[in-house]
Parts: sequence; structure tokens; C-alpha cells
Amino acid sequence: MSEKREGAVPHLSAEEFRRLGHRVVDWVADYWARLESFPVRAAVAPGEVMAKLPAHPPEEGLDGEAGWEAVFRDLEEVVLPGVTHWQSPSFFAYFPSNASGPAVLGELLSAGLGVQGMLWSTSPAATELETRVLDWLAELMALPASFRSDSGTGGGVIQGTASEAVLVAMVAARDRVRRVLGRDAEWVAYTSTQTHSSVLKAALISGVARDVADSVHLRQLDTDAGYALCPDALERAIREDLAAGRQPFFVCASLGTTSSGAMDPVRSVVEVLGRTGFTASGGWVHVDAAWAGSALVCPEFRALGEGLEGVDSFAFNPHKWLLTNFDCNVFYTRERQALLNALSVMPEYLRNAASASGKVVDYRDWQVPLGRRFRALKLWLVLRHYGARGLRAYLREHVRQAELFAGWVEADARFELAVPRSLSLVCFRLKPLPGEASSDTDARNRHLLERLNASGKAFLTHTVLPGVDGAPSRYVLRLAIGATRTEERHVRAVWEQLGALALS
Ligand SMILES: *Cc1c(COP(=O)(O)O)cnc(C)c1O
Repeated sequence: MSEKREGAVPHLSAEEFRRLGHRVVDWVADYWARLESFPVRAAVAPGEVMAKLPAHPPEEGLDGEAGWEAVFRDLEEVVLPGVTHWQSPSFFAYFPSNASGPAVLGELLSAGLGVQGMLWSTSPAATELETRVLDWLAELMALPASFRSDSGTGGGVIQGTASEAVLVAMVAARDRVRRVLGRDAEWVAYTSTQTHSSVLKAALISGVARDVADSVHLRQLDTDAGYALCPDALERAIREDLAAGRQPFFVCASLGTTSSGAMDPVRSVVEVLGRTGFTASGGWVHVDAAWAGSALVCPEFRALGEGLEGVDSFAFNPHKWLLTNFDCNVFYTRERQALLNALSVMPEYLRNAASASGKVVDYRDWQVPLGRRFRALKLWLVLRHYGARGLRAYLREHVRQAELFAGWVEADARFELAVPRSLSLVCFRLKPLPGEASSDTDARNRHLLERLNASGKAFLTHTVLPGVDGAPSRYVLRLAIGATRTEERHVRAVWEQLGALALS
């Protein structure tokens, strides 16, 4: 025992930690059991949560285990009212963010081990488990062999988010083209107008785009009528830029856009890049499949992945639809050396024999931060608990529920699908009334969504889809099915509620 110092507060003893830990696990298990009793979207005003919290930090610590009673009380009275219940089975907003028993237990283990796995040598298991689990996942999703670590040149890494993944890809891309050309250039990246805003953010962070309105260096191309990237428009843009002396270096294609679930034609994009000289100059194609990527676990959805063997990197979020709680993005590349070239720095204090041997992977060189959590544990436990069969059944059930819902929309004269259903995402709206101005249709839909969400019984969000061929843009509701505990009865209930609200 160390000597007692003035003010010293003992750590939780093993027994105290065990008892409190059991209570916390009980609390989470009870929370999951009573999810349906809460309004899905938090109904607090700005500042309401803060007002319940002391303005100053505690000078004295808690009075031992008994003092923790106040913590459990605050969880109920301060925290829960300000929580939007992402784990509610009636959460259909944005894309859901999965949590599951095995993942949360993996998270707890990771926290308990408390390792910082920046280098292989700072915790070999953190690196090697991650490499193995990502190779498993590549196999489960039938991804190109070039993305596997045992290809010798490619491999996977867990990033925090899809946003970090695209930033890493963009920085690696610029470095690679610069090496091929042997000079700097005026860089241009390409996406569609429907691409996730994280690509714009990556362009801002990397200095590729000067500001959010810089349409010279980040070209957000108009889509086809189904909101997918147009290979022809891409080809024209690349040729224009080359003719103007600018250097195309990066394309981000999306599998499953956030607004409407559109799928960019990856194979055609890759072909365009081949014939414009983009590929020969080292240009990089990244595929952002943040939400839809998980579907590749099911053979019947693999057609989505057509053409992936021609891309440089591919990323998706198991934290959206693969039962692994936030944060967990899986990023694969077929050229890991490009990441090392762009991101590797070696200060003296990190030098070690294992890294110098060249026999190990140091994942710090594959990502933005230096430090990294042992995230592979939660993904490992999810894959082991559910197995491939369980994951497929999980995904298929959500797609089936979305099919049902889309069918109800189509059969109801008041509603229409805004675009065809994409996997488990349904974009729909109240139909325009005869002669109604589009702004009035939008207003009725906005009003419907507001009333639904205010009821607390379900939570959906909206998007605005641009008009095609001169048509006006459309305000549409999105039903994103994919919460861990969503069952058919929850989808049915939200449809019945929408129908009732549409009458009033
Ligand atoms: C959700 C989403 C993202 C952003 O995800 P983060 O992991 O939060 O950065 C990127 N792209 C698409 C298509 C998404 O749906």
C-alpha cells in the first residue's frame, strides 16, 4: 500500500468495480428492455440538460460506492430526457447506428484493457486481431482478393468514421499522383451532387478545396434521373480539367447515397478513368459504401459490388448496419504502400525493432491520428456471436420490412415512392394534389413529418431531392430501417400512424 496522501481518493477496489460494473450492465440491459417507453427523439429545449448540471466541477469526489447512487439518479433525471433513442426499434432517421450485446461487451473489454494500439509493438494482439477480422469480413463480403492483407499489397484497417476514411484516401491519392507526375499540380477531385458531405470536408482539410463553394477543385457533378453519378458527365469533366491544365486525382463513388440510397455505377466509372488517363497518372477511386456496404454480406446483394476490383479503396460503417456500435468504419485498400507513403512519419520516440524489421503492420500509418483504440474486439465478438448466417438473416429481415413498407406506400393513393426502394431505405412522400404548387406539396410533407416526430412514437428524417430535367426539387421523407431491434410490427405501426396523420 502506498502512503496516504492529503486528499487522495482511492481507486475503486476490485470488489467495488465489480459491483458497480454489474449495475451498469444491468442498467444498459434494462434500458434496452424499456426502449419503447421513451419518445424516440429527445424532447428537450436547448440548454435544458446543461441547466440541470452544476456550473462548477466537483472539488470532492464521490463518497465511495454509496456516492454512486447520485450518478444512477442523474442518468435517469438528467441524461435520459436529453437522449434521442438511437437504439429504439422505431428509430428510422438518418441511417440508424447499431449497438448490440456482443459489440458493447467488446467495447467494455477494449476499455478495460485500455491499450493504445498505435504500433504493432504497443499491443501485437490489437493489430493482428484487427488484420484477421478484416480479412474475415472481406471473405464474408466477397471483396476482391486485392483488399486482403494476405494479398501482400492490400489490406484493411478500422477507422473511426467514413469521414476519416475518405480523408485518408484523398491524401494518399494526391501523394500517389504527385509521385507519378514528379511534380505538384492544381488538384481536382470528383463526386456527384449526392455524395456525402464528408468528401467536401476532406477536400477542405487536405487543402484541395479552398472553401465550401470551391467548385473548381471539388467538382460535384449532376446525376442521372436515379441520382447516381453519370460516367459521361465524369468523363467530360475530367477532359475539361486536363485541357485547362488542372490535374484530376481523386474520384469518390457512392454505393448507397445518404439522401436516397443511389448506387453509382462503379464499373463504368472505372472504365472512364481508364480511358481518360486518370488511372495511368495514379488517380485514385474511393468507394464510400458507409451504410449499404454491409449488404454485401448477403450473396443476393453482391451485384452492388460489381467493379470493386477496379477501385483503390472501399469503406463502410459496421456501426451503421452491422451490429457494431459507433465508432467502427472498415477501410480496405489494394495499395497499402500508398497510405504509408502519404502518412508515415517516424519520430525517434516511436522507433522500435519490430517496425524496423518490416515484418509488422503499424496501423498508425494508415489513419489520421497516432493513437488508436482496440476496436477490433467488438467487431470480432459480433462476427463470432452472430456468425455469417446470423448477419445475413439480420440484414435480410430489414430489407424485407422495407419491401413491405414500400408496397404499402405504392398501394395507398395518398402516397408515392420518391425513388425506388434501395435495400432497407424507402424515400416517399404525400403525392401532389391536382394543380398543387410543388412548394405546397413540400409544406404538407414537412408538416406530416413534424407531427409524426413530435408524437415521440417514431423518428424519421427528410431529404430534398433535386429536380431532374427541369422538374422542381422534392421534399421527401426517408424511412431508414436498420435499428438493431426493429421488427415488422414497428414498421407497421409507423405506417399506420402516417396514414392517420395524413387524414387530419
Ligand atoms: C453516414 C455516411 C457517411 C458519414 O459517416 P461517418 O462515419 O459518420 O463519417 C459518409 N458517407 C455516407 C454515404 C454515409 O451514409
